[in-house]
Amino acid sequence: MTGLYPQIFHEQIQLMKDMLERGEMIFGGDRDNPGYRRFKQETMRVHYNAIDSFWSMMQQAGLVEKCDCGVMARRYTECPLCGGSGFKAKEVPSGPDQDPG
Ligand SMILES: [Zn+2]
Repeated sequence: MTGLYPQIFHEQIQLMKDMLERGEMIFGGDRDNPGYRRFKQETMRVHYNAIDSFWSMMQQAGLVEKCDCGVMARRYTECPLCGGSGFKAKEVPSGPDQDPG
């Protein structure tokens, strides 16, 4: 996996997985524990909301655009352009430098 944006997405997913592992530890490794299930549900909801929000901001800033693979930001894939976020680096037409303002 190369490229900054795929790496960022990978880190975002990794952070969520790390949190889920911590939760599993706290609940004694019992994935069927109702407390753990609730924790997992909330952790995934919070993280995916943050991930969606992050990539939406990146798109609005003109840094990324929708990836051709068309994947939703809900799964990790091996797409070399987006890594599964669904957003790839925006291709900027070459030309005179412009002040981003
Ligand atoms: Zn892609």
